[in-house]
This record gives sequence, C-alpha cells and structure tokens, in this order.
Amino acid sequence: MKNAYLQRVYDQVLARDPNEPEFHQTVHEFLSSLENLVDDHPEWEKNGILERFVEPDRIVSFRVSWVDDEGKVQINRGWRAQFNSAIGPYKGGIRFHPSVNQSVIKFLAFEMVLKNGLTTLPIGGGKGGSDFDPHGKSDGEIMRFCQAFITELYRYIGQFSDIPAGDIGVGAREIGYMFGQLKRINGQFQSAILTGKGLTYGGSLMRTEATGYGICYYTQEMLKKLCSTEFTGKTVIVTGSGNVAIYCAEKVRQLGGLVVAMSDSNGYVYDPDGIKLDVIKDIKLNRRGRIKLYADEVPGATYTEGCRNIWDVPCKIALPCATQNEVGAEEAKKIIAGGCIALAEGANMPCTTEAVEMLHAAGIPVGPAKAANAGGVSTSALEMTQNSIRMSWSFEEVDERLHAIMRSIFQASYDASVAVGKPGNLVVGANVASFLKISQAMLEQGIY
Ligand code: NDP
Repeated sequence: MKNAYLQRVYDQVLARDPNEPEFHQTVHEFLSSLENLVDDHPEWEKNGILERFVEPDRIVSFRVSWVDDEGKVQINRGWRAQFNSAIGPYKGGIRFHPSVNQSVIKFLAFEMVLKNGLTTLPIGGGKGGSDFDPHGKSDGEIMRFCQAFITELYRYIGQFSDIPAGDIGVGAREIGYMFGQLKRINGQFQSAILTGKGLTYGGSLMRTEATGYGICYYTQEMLKKLCSTEFTGKTVIVTGSGNVAIYCAEKVRQLGGLVVAMSDSNGYVYDPDGIKLDVIKDIKLNRRGRIKLYADEVPGATYTEGCRNIWDVPCKIALPCATQNEVGAEEAKKIIAGGCIALAEGANMPCTTEAVEMLHAAGIPVGPAKAANAGGVSTSALEMTQNSIRMSWSFEEVDERLHAIMRSIFQASYDASVAVGKPGNLVVGANVASFLKISQAMLEQGIY
C-alpha cells in the first residue's frame, strides 16, 4: 500500500494475528480501496478510526458439548465475532462446517460490517459458527448440537444487541432448533432474536430465496450499466447447490438466462439444455443427496468429479455461490478464456485477490460479495422489522423491497467508484460507500 497510515494499520493486523490468512485477505482488500481517499480524511488517523475498524468489538469462543446417537459425548468449538455496531446491532449468520476457525469467522464478520453498511438498513456486523460437521448426522444429533450451541451463545445475543441467522450448514431446521431452545432458556417468545425462522413462527416470506434472487437483481444492474446487456439468452454457471445457488439459478432462469452447470463439494454437473432445478431441489433439499445423482437421473447431463473444474465449461456470466476462495488464478484463467463478460460473487469472498485482479485486467467487472449477496441479510433485517411491528408482508411486498435495496446497493457502489476515480471498480466502490457511512457514525459517537 502506498499510503503510510494504511500500511501501518495493515502491518499491525499482520503482527497481532499472524495466523489469520482469510482475515488478512479481506482487510488488505478493504484498506487498498481507500488509497485515493485517505489523504482527504485526516480525522480518521486522529481518531484511530481504521485501527478500530479492523479490530472486532469482541469475539467469544466457547466449548460445545453434545451427545451423539451412540451416547458418546462429542466436543466442538464455537465462536461469535461481534465486529462493529456503529450503525445498528450486530447481524450476521452462523456457519457449521469443519473448516470454521477464528480467522474464517473474523473475515466473515468483517465482511458483514461492510455489507450491512450498504443495505440502507440499520444493522451492524457480526458472524458466528462452529467446526461441527453436519454431514451424515441424524436429525436428533443436529437438534442436540444446535441446543448445546445456542445454550452457550444465548447470553451474548438479543434483539437489540446481536441477531444471528443461518449460513453454510445452518438452514431453517437448525434455526428452528435454536429458536426453540432460546424460548426455553429465556422463557419469552422474542421473535427478532434470530432470523431465517420458519414461516409459522415469525419468518419472512422470501427469506429463503432472498440471497439468490438478490444476486441476480444486482447482476442485472451490473450487466445494464457496465456491459449494456441483460441475462436473456446468456449461458450462466452457478457454483454450489445450497440455498444461495439454488435460488440464484431459479432467478437466472426467470430472467431468461440458461444455467448450464452447478456443483457441490465433490464435483459438478453439466447440462447443455439447462439445469432442471426441480431435480436439483429434490436431490439437495429433499433427499440431502450428492449432485452426482443429477447426471444419473437426467438424460444428456454429465458429472465430473472435482468441483473446481466447473470452469472448464465456458459461460457468459459467472456466479460463484459455494464458498470462500473457490476461484483462484487457475479458475480465473478458465473463466476469462471461456468468454465471460461479468462475474458476481454469490458466496462470501469466493474469488482470491489474485483472481479479482486477473478478471479486472481482462476487463470483466466483478460484483463483490458484500454487495452482490447482501439480499440475504437485507431480507433478514426486513424479517426483524416485521417481527417488531407484529405483521407479515406478502411475498411480492418483500420482493419489491429487496429489489429496490439491490438497485440502491449497486448505484451507491458505482457512484463511489466514480467518485474515487475508479469508475466501474465495484470492489472499491462497495468498500468506500459503506465505510464512509460507518466511519461517520463512529466519529459522531466518540471514542468507544
Ligand atoms: P449451503 O450450506 O446451503 O450450501 C453450500 C453449498 O456449497 C453446497 O452445495 C456445498 O456442497 C457447497 N460447498 C461447500 N464447500 C465447498 C467447497 N469447498 N467447494 C465447492 N463447493 C462447496 O450454504 P449457502 O448456500 O447458504 O451459502 C453459500 C455461500 O453463500 C457461503 O459463502 C455463505 O457464507 C454465503 N452466503 C449465504 C447467505 C444465505 O442467505 N444463506 C447470505 C449471504 C452469503 P456440499 O453439499 O457438498 O456440502
């Protein structure tokens, strides 16, 4: 980094937390975005704004003890990073996956701060999770784990302090088990303490679809403004086949695009006639099976082992929706060679820094996760609003609000990219637009 203050803040992060590579990556990207701006804001250094911004308010880490079906006690580790509450209570999902560690939770929480700052809604940033692996666990084991996890976490959350939601490995079933346990502990029906709830007890219509649909609404704006085109007739690859990927693919279809390949952590399926989403939904949501089954059941489709090879298939629009760092230099090379015109990040930080640089150098606009996938948390915040006013909005009403939010996120990011002299660089634009709002709130609230 050219600016001495930015470099100093980054060096301090490296020195304090040498073993947190994911966190370093996201902080580096963020600080680099401020290069053209930092000299105009001497108040940031004077008030330690950047130093405070890269240091979480707190992280709690705890043991989760639970009993498996054989009666054996199992131990996992849980975390909650409460990163920044300058513009609202902490808000962010809970992830259950064996790859979860403190660095992953910290990077996700940091991204949430900036993402939530873009949504136009009053929410701060946090994230939580556990290294628990839900794969192959019985329903009873999932329930006992969720109850044990939230029994540790409950004392740190609340509708005015920190409102968790789902993420990888945590869907409506897990939220339900955690909500039930919270009710038992608190002796109160506090609707807005968790989001992503079932529709029968305070969930919002279209929360399930929100992240995926939102990615497409954002990509639509990107295509219009930066490529003078639209989804109609374009081949699209959506990686993953979880909540985000499935509903992203559904909206691509509704907007006239053709999704030709999807994946899971084992491999990918290619269907030149367009992926049949009813089959994917049945395999992944009803049967909790592997994506390989798709090729067994749909004539003309093929399965290839190894999820990263999905980019051997050419596409015009790339929507990585699986996990962090799934697109590195090798994958970016293939995406460029395949004639891609735009990429929007559906998962959190699916592209490495190197991949983003390569895509930009090839003239391919990149919609960063914190903007492109903000539809999920936005709709979570709309769920909180409905809980607070004790009313439920219709699917169409929530969809309309989501669409407006995604348009405004794109516009704010694009305008900020122009203002700092990097027109069309949506990575820089998203960081700048959000940080200007949050840093202002931090300055106005004094030292804390
Ligand atoms: P799910 O658990 O529903 O699905 C995750 C999908 O990604 C599965 O298909 C899984 O395959 C696949 N996957 C996991 N690890 C890998 C890997 N290493 N390589 C390839 N594929 C992999 O999670 P979500 O769909 O909810 O989340 C996906 C991403 O979107 C995450 O980065 C999450 O943080 C982000 N996100 C989610 C939001 C939401 O509302 N759910 C909101 C904003 C962001 P398998 O079945 O084999 O495990």
